[in-house]
Amino acid sequence: MRKKIVAGNWKMNLLHKEALQLVSSLNEQEISSDVIRIVFPPFIYISELRKQSQNVFVGAQNFYPKESGAYTGEVSINQLKDLGVEYVLVGHSERRMYFNESDEFLKEKVDAAIRLGIHVIFCCGESLEIRDANTHESFVINQLNSSLFHLSSEELKNITIAYEPIWAIGTGRTASSQQAEEMHACIRKSIEDKYSQEVADSISILYGGSCNASNANEMFACPNVDGGLIGGASLKAQDFYAISTAY
Ligand code: PEP
Repeated sequence: MRKKIVAGNWKMNLLHKEALQLVSSLNEQEISSDVIRIVFPPFIYISELRKQSQNVFVGAQNFYPKESGAYTGEVSINQLKDLGVEYVLVGHSERRMYFNESDEFLKEKVDAAIRLGIHVIFCCGESLEIRDANTHESFVINQLNSSLFHLSSEELKNITIAYEPIWAIGTGRTASSQQAEEMHACIRKSIEDKYSQEVADSISILYGGSCNASNANEMFACPNVDGGLIGGASLKAQDFYAISTAY
């Protein structure tokens, strides 16, 4: 049974007071128990927001895949586990692009999270050049093959995939629902080919890239779209609410 998930990636936004205000507004919203909501704030707010939040999980945008040691400035997955964090993002295009996170490194991150039983939202997606060259499907499947498809069936069930075409992230240019559905169906088929139909039917696939209160309904109506990974629109309580109720 696929879960409906709406996740908000706050990135490097919001000051302390604003973060608290946003979670307090989310607390007032009535959300169907069918929908899992997660927010990914900057590290420094995680602990406090976990205590404040009532109807939303608080996850981490990043971590370093070593248990501990001399890695100045980094936060380990074990430290997140110790705080009680249940969800992490891996493979976001901004981490791939600005922090040079390779497929191999992302595989290490996936393994580290899975080892501790932390649920991974794994991001994949192509650039505009790749879309224009019409090689987007093989590109995305290759990302999954490189960092995810070494997992066992049982391990893969602890993964949610987020398809995020890079050309749609933060640009206001969303993929059409047809483009999203085609890619989601292709991803699901690749899971079926590699694992089984039962596994493919159990994995949630989210769409991300300028998803907002006006287009979420159409996106979420697609048979293979199970929810969204939301950037900009997750910073406004009303917009995040509208998206969370767009099923
Ligand atoms: C994201 O960064 O994951 C994202 C989807 O951003 P936005 O919604 O702002 O395009």
